[in-house]
Amino acid sequence: MKTAVDLNKLLLPHIRGLERYQGVASMDSMASQSGVSADKVIRLNGNENPFGPSPKALHALGAFRNYNHYPDQDQQRLRQVLSDYVGFPPDRIVVGNGSDEIIDLLMRMFIGAGENVVIPSPTFGMYAVSAAINGGQAVSVPLDENFDLDVAAMLGAVTPKTKGFFVPSPNNPTGNLVSESNVRSLLDTGLLVVMDEAYYEFCGVTFLPLLEDHPNLVVIRSFSKWAGLAGLRVGFGVMHPEIALTMFSVKPPYNVTQAAEVALIASLEDRPVLMERVREMVAERDRMTGLLNDVPGIKAWPSQANFILIQLPAGRGKEIYDGLCRRGIFLRNYDSPRLQDHLRASVGFPSETDALISALSDLVKP
Ligand code: PMP
Repeated sequence: MKTAVDLNKLLLPHIRGLERYQGVASMDSMASQSGVSADKVIRLNGNENPFGPSPKALHALGAFRNYNHYPDQDQQRLRQVLSDYVGFPPDRIVVGNGSDEIIDLLMRMFIGAGENVVIPSPTFGMYAVSAAINGGQAVSVPLDENFDLDVAAMLGAVTPKTKGFFVPSPNNPTGNLVSESNVRSLLDTGLLVVMDEAYYEFCGVTFLPLLEDHPNLVVIRSFSKWAGLAGLRVGFGVMHPEIALTMFSVKPPYNVTQAAEVALIASLEDRPVLMERVREMVAERDRMTGLLNDVPGIKAWPSQANFILIQLPAGRGKEIYDGLCRRGIFLRNYDSPRLQDHLRASVGFPSETDALISALSDLVKP
């Protein structure tokens, strides 16, 4: 006889109805959705690095022999090389399984049931997902008409249940930076301020120097974008040593794989190659912005990252998105009313930009 099980009773109430993060579809599903073969699909929806990992990282991954060993749970080598990279001591650094994991660990450490963090809107979707998984909430405060942070409104949203702010700079998907005075206003509340710099290497603007005087600041970085390691999942946070020490007790012991460790160390050794690629992507981003703005009816928002937010003619977002998919060109679309007629395009190779521009020019014609 089968045992009667009421899973709804067993699952935690705040977990049961959880909304899933809509990540990047697999190459296979993009190919089957568009009818275009996987090698012809133009994949501009994940802010990935079109060049792939650095040559040294690929070589080191193949040459490493000890994948049978568990990784170092104290991350000593990783923290040392990252310390050299960012100029802050190793005891301020924690490495995660993607910067996604650093976000999740911070939520776990700082917000409990019924508590919240304040975030801008639109922004990166994982803040709301991670807050909800941990029984809390991300309270969204709309960006202003230029997609700049509305700091007065963010401060106004703070309640006794608010533990902090999560803010990307450059923001995803709008591509713009946050000003230092705005960051300082958030820091002055004494609440946790997480500045997410996943796209730092594409703009060179960082709030790391503010760490010296602000124990409530955490800066997050990623190796997914500039270093092309999205598939290996590795990112890190720089923070007050006490927060870092606590994070080591919260994180799973072997959260960063040996492969990710090997690739991160080799990527930092191969920095000149990777940064030359970043410069090429930045040049391509600027060329793409110009070409998009030349298409009648389209506005490309200026970007400091490796993607561009594209504003389409009013009411035509879905039709144009579908038209691009049919041609095997995948951009990121959004559910939110404010971004209904917007798509986000990652910066790929020049040939991919050209294919996108040609398809868009065709599709926007009334
Ligand atoms: N922060 C922002 C602002 C992002 O856009 C992303 C990825 N889209 C991440 C964090 C997560 O990156 P990772 O691959 O390091 O988990």
